Amino acid sequence: MKFDLLEPATIGEATALLSARADARILAGGQSLLLMIRSGLVRPATLVSLNAVGGLAEITAGPTDGLSIGALATHANILASPLVRERAPLLAMAVERIGSTPVRNFGTLGGNLCHNEMGGDPPPALLALGAEAECAGPRGRRRIPLADFFTDYFSTALAADEILTGIAIPRQPAGSRALYLKHAMRPGDLAIVGVAALLEMDGGVCRRARLALGGVGPVAFRAYEAEKLLGGARLDEGAIDAAAEAAAAMCDPIDDAHAPAEYRKKMARVFVRRALRRAAAGEER
Ligand SMILES: Cc1cc2nc3c(=O)[nH]c(=O)nc-3n(C[C@H](O)[C@H](O)[C@H](O)COP(=O)(O)OP(=O)(O)OC[C@H]3O[C@@H](n4cnc5c(N)ncnc54)[C@H](O)[C@@H]3O)c2cc1C
Repeated sequence: MKFDLLEPATIGEATALLSARADARILAGGQSLLLMIRSGLVRPATLVSLNAVGGLAEITAGPTDGLSIGALATHANILASPLVRERAPLLAMAVERIGSTPVRNFGTLGGNLCHNEMGGDPPPALLALGAEAECAGPRGRRRIPLADFFTDYFSTALAADEILTGIAIPRQPAGSRALYLKHAMRPGDLAIVGVAALLEMDGGVCRRARLALGGVGPVAFRAYEAEKLLGGARLDEGAIDAAAEAAAAMCDPIDDAHAPAEYRKKMARVFVRRALRRAAAGEER
């Protein structure tokens, strides 16, 4: 297949190219897009690479003590970042579970979120952390809470001429206990279910819980019903079971080549229970 490969030097130039060419697609690490082109699933006439745009892979301290991760930061960049380890260790736990070494070296956080494949690892962690997508387009810049960014299978709230430029992540609350657990059939696979739990504890009582799941519905989501049950509760087996039931009830999985829907839902219950138990006990794996 033939296509034009364009390498704009600025975000403005990149969004102008997207506006001018309806058949253009952004190219980041190419890990998913090139596979889709090779298999004939998409046939863009133009690829707009972001790789010549300066600063898009930077990981910096955010203005309110959080983090800003450029869309072009690779999974390997994220894992190597002391700032991520210090301010958002939950994200590092999720990124560690991604595929193989080449995918971690070339795949980008922005590409992962924009591709929005069911069972990706970063989305549940970023949802639990309360992250926002930083976007730019011909009409200016805007921020989209990540909970509104994922709209459907392989779909996001980005307009066709918009680019994801980065992710803003509030600092993980001091003293919080966080854990990402992934269930996959083989080590390099996408998650059958991925669970991110972030608990702010006061002794055995949970002051505030954030719980997000991936792989068990069209998009990763916050399990608000379960969070409500956990907030203010002593995290005994009864409370954990009730939260796992509530989270499983919010799942809406499909049957696919990796697992039937019913299995995904059962595993959601099991892995939420496990994640809450281990997070409450302060375990990090
Ligand atoms: C074999 C394999 C195994 C994998 N395993 C896992 C796994 O276990 N867990 C996991 O979470 N992920 C997994 N992935 C996905 C991986 O993490 C990558 O993040 C993903 O492939 C896309 O990132 P990329 O930078 O290569 O994006 P690309 O392939 O370049 O782009 C993907 C899509 O996003 C769009 N896009 C990219 N960047 C932007 C942007 N900044 N703004 C707007 N649109 C953009 C592109 O136009 C394209 O539609 C796997 C991928 C492969 C190929």
